[in-house]
Amino acid sequence: SLAGRLALVTGSTSGIGLGIAGTLASRGCDVILHGFGDDDVIKQAKAKVESHKVRCHWEDADLCDVSSIDKMAESISRVFPKTPDILVNNAGFQSVSDVTQFSLDTWQKMLTVHLTAPFLLTQRLLPAMVDRGWGRIVNIASVHGLVASPYKAAYVSAKHGVIGLTKVVALETAKTGVTCNAVCPGWVETPIFIQQAEARSREQGISYEEARRQMVSNHATEEPVKVQDIGELVSFLCSPAANQMTGSSIVIDGGWTAR
Ligand code: NAD
Repeated sequence: SLAGRLALVTGSTSGIGLGIAGTLASRGCDVILHGFGDDDVIKQAKAKVESHKVRCHWEDADLCDVSSIDKMAESISRVFPKTPDILVNNAGFQSVSDVTQFSLDTWQKMLTVHLTAPFLLTQRLLPAMVDRGWGRIVNIASVHGLVASPYKAAYVSAKHGVIGLTKVVALETAKTGVTCNAVCPGWVETPIFIQQAEARSREQGISYEEARRQMVSNHATEEPVKVQDIGELVSFLCSPAANQMTGSSIVIDGGWTAR
């Protein structure tokens, strides 16, 4: 059980992060939701977490702006007497372009949200985890932290980077009771996936279903990963059975990287 623990899950107003927030809450963990969304989206996300009778709070820091991270940490400290025991760095977005055309602005935003924000949040939250002798940092990377696809220069670079950060933090925290791991999903059918399937369908003049089928064919199983499966994996990493798992990149990709 994660009763009495507090988790910050970035990018948890949607998709994978919301799934992780729900699973951690189902194990009794208090949850800080984070990310964008209109009132209805936030209300529904909060209701999902609160249905498990745990405390829930929402933050909306824009992770493109690094100064927002200190403000978020201060805001959290006004709501909860302790800092989070569990940090899940999940917030992210996708942007595709030929490398020769890739916008510098998008490149910098990608690296800030996917790599600099996890670095800064780790810097902020790790000392209290070490003092307490228990902590979990889970970085949601991607198969694109291990292998590449064309047109995703910034995303693939940032995801490879976050796997490096994971390994360094794991070594620096070994023997402290804190672990740091990366999770590498293949395709998960969230808004990020749907946007890419819609773009592919428009650009190639094919149906949405055909675009979806083509994308998911990266998986040997030809089926996407379910959001709930990622939540279960993160919960496992927070359990005592995972005490000796640190610095790992755990692949959940329907066999994508096995080929
Ligand atoms: P999603 O679009 O459903 O959710 C993204 C979340 O991040 C939202 O809560 C959004 O508000 C938040 N976010 C985005 N930009 C932000 C910013 N600048 N500041 C603060 N919050 C921001 O996407 P998802 O598919 O659930 O993706 C979650 C993570 O999983 C991402 O890191 C993504 O790269 C990774 N991932 C996704 C897939 C997939 O197929 N969906 C596969 C591998 C890895």
